[in-house]
Amino acid sequence: MPKVLIPTPLRQYAGKNDTVELAGATVGEVLRALTDQFGDLRGHLYTDEGKLRSFVNVYLNDEDIRYLQKDATAVSDGDTISIVPSIAGGAPAVEAPPQPATLSKEEILRYSRHLIMPEVGMEGQLKLKNAKVLLIGAGGLGAPLGMYLAAAGIGRIGIVDFDVVDYTNLQRQVIHGTSDVGRKKLDSAADTMREINPYVTIDKHDTALSSENALDILKDYDFIVDGTDNFPTRYLVNDACVLLHKANVYGSIFRFEGQATVFAYEGGPCYRCLYPEPPPPGLVPSCAEGGVLGILPGVIGLIQATETVKLILGTGEPLVGHLLLYDALAMRFRELKLRKNPECPVCGDHPTVTKLIDYQEFCGIPRHEPPPQPGLKEWEIDPVEVKAKLDRGEPIYILDVREPHEYQICSIPGSHLLPLGDLPRRVNELNSADEIIAHCRSGVRSAKAVDFLRQAGFKKVKNMVGGILAWSDKVDPRVPKY
Ligand code: ZN
Repeated sequence: MPKVLIPTPLRQYAGKNDTVELAGATVGEVLRALTDQFGDLRGHLYTDEGKLRSFVNVYLNDEDIRYLQKDATAVSDGDTISIVPSIAGGAPAVEAPPQPATLSKEEILRYSRHLIMPEVGMEGQLKLKNAKVLLIGAGGLGAPLGMYLAAAGIGRIGIVDFDVVDYTNLQRQVIHGTSDVGRKKLDSAADTMREINPYVTIDKHDTALSSENALDILKDYDFIVDGTDNFPTRYLVNDACVLLHKANVYGSIFRFEGQATVFAYEGGPCYRCLYPEPPPPGLVPSCAEGGVLGILPGVIGLIQATETVKLILGTGEPLVGHLLLYDALAMRFRELKLRKNPECPVCGDHPTVTKLIDYQEFCGIPRHEPPPQPGLKEWEIDPVEVKAKLDRGEPIYILDVREPHEYQICSIPGSHLLPLGDLPRRVNELNSADEIIAHCRSGVRSAKAVDFLRQAGFKKVKNMVGGILAWSDKVDPRVPKY
């Protein structure tokens, strides 16, 4: 029987299976058998009108069959049908000084293992030195990219990032060290890269890439390397690259799986050809929510670095028109052919996207969090609002940082006890993807706990002001005060 490979984000709807064997004479029949067997999958794969959703692609063996009639596409025993959904993984640049056309004595020694390779040689090394590459993000993918591209002798490397190093980054973002926690990723990454190779010029773009600044930042670089972890920026980078006619070296990561390719290079397909629309918010978890093997961005980032160097040297076959899939658990690479979509809204024959748009809105993400209540800081919450969240069934994690003997006096139902003094040692028991609301007796210790957790990279943690005393006053007078 034909096999259907189920991607990680959808396995929860398919009985946790990674592979399902199903009978059917055509791709359409097999997919119908799949959704008959696993009803929960149907809504994730098909629209209400029965059309395959546009952030999901179907391959028969290694062929993209999106534009073929699935009911007319015959399958036989041993065929593999793959469902491949989209996954997510500075100071302004000064005018580049004219690049020297030679290498110094120190550089010749430094790059000697390149220089003795016929595929690189002096000519290739000078191409690397004259190249300008922009890295979007100094995180998981940006870390190996920055280090190896610097070591390889790329003359000018720009980095766009506005984030700060936190403890949860260190498991994979090897360009940052433990002593860098709390520093800007830009500064930390640039220091590491300069230490590796002082001959590289580094432009620090200390900003979030946006529709307003993207074209201006990207225009000064030859190649763009996408190391972002969210869909709005992916679409922004893609559209900006298509509009500026620049290659987009793409990589993405999720748990044990990665994807890499080169988009928008010399008329090849772009990200929107592959995924015209983003998944609805919340369907595909980010690395912060779904986790990622710390080594995985190393593998995918180095594939991106390799492709970048090949494009600069003009050697080898770039991953244009091919999507490389990496499965670390099976230790298997697969390659799927990508087609340019003539209907693509940005690179197709009749593009409708001719300038950058609002990508937050495009991805269905509310632009701003609801404003905090008057008088409260953004990381503070009133007990009444906590009660309202509980009543609405929101999955909040109530963290009680008092001592066990206080907990015996009174507690909020469903709360988890973890005394403040134990927090640094037991922080691993908490999940930074959870919405955590910390409380104590009056709100002082929990403010310290929130401060600690925010520094450790917890972005969704709030302090319940006034503690359980305020809870007793405002929410539940049966709770004794002490
Ligand atoms: Zn396209």
